Amino acid sequence: MSDNLFRQLPSVNDVLAAEGVQALARDHAHDLIVGAVRAELSSLRDQIRQGIPVDGQSAVEVVASRVACRLGHEMQPKLRTVINATGIVLHTNLGRSPVAEDAAKAAYEAARSYLNLELDLETGKRSSRQIAIREWVCRLTGAESATAVNNNAAATVIVLRTVAQGKEVVISRGQLIEIGGSFRIPDIMSVSGAILREVGTTNITRLSDYQRAIGPNTGALLQVHSSNYRISGFTKSVALSELAALGKKHGLPVIDDIGSGALVDFARFGFQGEPVARASIAAGADLVLFSGDKLLGGPQAGIIAGRKEWIQKIEKDPLMRAFRLDKMTLAALDATLRLYLNEELALREVPVLRLLGTPLKELRQRAERMAEQLRGIPALASVEITEDVAYVGGGSLPDQSMKSWVVEIEASSLSDSELALRLRLGTPAVMARLRGGKLVLDVRTIFEHQEMLLVEAVRKALATTENQ
Ligand SMILES: *Cc1c(COP(=O)(O)O)cnc(C)c1O
Repeated sequence: MSDNLFRQLPSVNDVLAAEGVQALARDHAHDLIVGAVRAELSSLRDQIRQGIPVDGQSAVEVVASRVACRLGHEMQPKLRTVINATGIVLHTNLGRSPVAEDAAKAAYEAARSYLNLELDLETGKRSSRQIAIREWVCRLTGAESATAVNNNAAATVIVLRTVAQGKEVVISRGQLIEIGGSFRIPDIMSVSGAILREVGTTNITRLSDYQRAIGPNTGALLQVHSSNYRISGFTKSVALSELAALGKKHGLPVIDDIGSGALVDFARFGFQGEPVARASIAAGADLVLFSGDKLLGGPQAGIIAGRKEWIQKIEKDPLMRAFRLDKMTLAALDATLRLYLNEELALREVPVLRLLGTPLKELRQRAERMAEQLRGIPALASVEITEDVAYVGGGSLPDQSMKSWVVEIEASSLSDSELALRLRLGTPAVMARLRGGKLVLDVRTIFEHQEMLLVEAVRKALATTENQ
């Protein structure tokens, strides 16, 4: 009898001949389509074997439409848009900083056409790709020159290599940090060929500690911003200006890894103690290093600003070829930096700055608006709004939170983790927080144009209760 049931199934060729499957040939290779047909038929055979009725599912057109579904799912891009409802503004797993519209457009244009990446349009001769950003970084930081590589980790390696290969680099024990993703200062130091010379203690380092460590084999003095942790209590560190004076006295370059690369003062958002690139140059640092995709809000990059002679040497290092930025990133960085030449414009256009600067009152209104929409979804048992805290993230400002508003939702017949899973797998994907059996949607990191998409995503996630 079950043999009979098997015989009811269409053959691979029957399904391949179906109109719906023929149409797939426009977008998909033949072997992929055949694979999907086989997979669908095999899942129907499994069903029969398990004694589950396949009535209505074995008709050719029905199988054909499932094949189309399966292929569409299988061939989805691996990288997809995610609505960030976590409240973490710089979420490294979500690509850190979204870039400004102008920057995204610049990257798009750079990607799809030829451009003067290494060509001087006036002379028609070869030029440097770093020209795309050099002038802007100099204007914004007050540095003599600047260059950029793939990220701040690469910047640190190439700077230490150029400046202090085979020589000692003096650094405070309190600054021997790990950023995450295996970026540890001692490891970076050894990769670069510089020799770590740690001074002081975890909580106290004095100028005299640096002074005593300076000898004939000293290559540089290094300061690293402890971006992702804070020591409080009985602490003492040396001001950059003092370190710079000491370096000058001994003819040693002073390197300042400021991490996040703020180009505006973050005190305006209520954040204290975040170093600003311009202030480091003004305090006398010879080279300042920072990320492009943290508080700067641009594409992933490591920016090196400082003395011309050092920048020239860095650009001549063979590693520069391995670390250099691609045309799309350079175009996006060029556009982002140009926005900062008008601070008002940067505050309005750079997404990270806009998200950090959204007034609490506005967040509350948006939470209320979203909650109202969500209350129209019958499968939600509860929708509430409440004040909460959001974080900058991305290893920046670890001890400083900011107020935010969230919408908490709970489904009537789905667990919190099941709802979270469905939202992650939806289109667009949504990443939220779980807390006390509820899903927490933080408005701080949800773009205004995504509000309704998010509501629809929740509706869809709950509508598919019977499927899958
Ligand atoms: C984040 C950070 C780095 C690493 O920067 P990436 O751009 O992520 O490579 C290096 N140093 C400090 C102080 C940082 O905060």
